[in-house]
Amino acid sequence: MEAVATRNVLNGGNATAPSRPYDPAYDPLHTPTPGQGREYAPTYWIGTAGEPPADDGPITHDIDVDVAIIGSGFTGLTCAIFLAQEYGIKATVLEANRVSWGCSTRNGGQAQCASGRLKRSQWIQRYGLDTALRLHEEVCDGMQTFKNLIKDIDCDPQPGGHLYIAHRDKAMPALEKEAKLLRDVFKYDARIFDADTVRREYVDDKEAAGAMHEPEGIGIHAGKLAFGYLRRARHSAPRCTHRAP
Ligand SMILES: Cc1cc2nc3c(=O)[nH]c(=O)nc-3n(C[C@H](O)[C@H](O)[C@H](O)COP(=O)(O)OP(=O)(O)OC[C@H]3O[C@@H](n4cnc5c(N)ncnc54)[C@H](O)[C@@H]3O)c2cc1C
Repeated sequence: MEAVATRNVLNGGNATAPSRPYDPAYDPLHTPTPGQGREYAPTYWIGTAGEPPADDGPITHDIDVDVAIIGSGFTGLTCAIFLAQEYGIKATVLEANRVSWGCSTRNGGQAQCASGRLKRSQWIQRYGLDTALRLHEEVCDGMQTFKNLIKDIDCDPQPGGHLYIAHRDKAMPALEKEAKLLRDVFKYDARIFDADTVRREYVDDKEAAGAMHEPEGIGIHAGKLAFGYLRRARHSAPRCTHRAP
């Protein structure tokens, strides 16, 4: 993929200011590039994360790099962190807009032991039991990596597991069956809560009929996490640029 209008986001003194306003009509499914120099989407995360950390500003001339990472979302920034940490590689992160301008500052902030939207019973149907068990191991491993990664990042972590809330009584038997599968086959301690427990212990959802609780799950502040990743990456990688066509 070609890096468009990129800026280096890892050294420098200040966060590069946007040169273009937020475009509410931007649709990644229909627009060939993410644009250039765009302001953040006005999300809650951006509104409450504080000032974006410093970056390296626009690239203004050709540069030699060992590894160029295109995009400064969660993927690009953690890739830079791990390349430095595990291989001693100082990568250069190239970003077309502001730091973590894309999905990473527009999401739900939920970290859980999951892979897409399919339930584990559906993993078994689709991939077979052996693969489903390996996938479970992998997502649990990923969760552990994430927990280690955020230990010293100020991103308002709220551990406590993950709830799948049923809003109709008739949805409960499927959740009960899934929880049993998680316990018996995956050795993953999922529990069923009644509506009162959900309201008393977790969320005052008047429409909740009950819920399945998974033990692993952390809510985080996505904007603070993205900015924290950038700060961490800047310690280890030499450059993180913006808007350098
Ligand atoms: C509404 C919503 C809710 C979500 N909720 C959750 C959730 O609760 N939990 C969860 O785990 N996941 C959630 N996700 C998914 C999660 O946000 C993404 O998987 C994650 O942020 C992807 O990170 P990324 O770094 O791959 O991409 P992005 O964060 O999108 O970053 C890509 C970056 O690359 C830049 N870029 C793109 N092309 C170029 C180019 N050619 N040159 C230079 N720069 C470029 C973009 O400007 C952008 O900043 C949600 C996503 C959405 C949309």
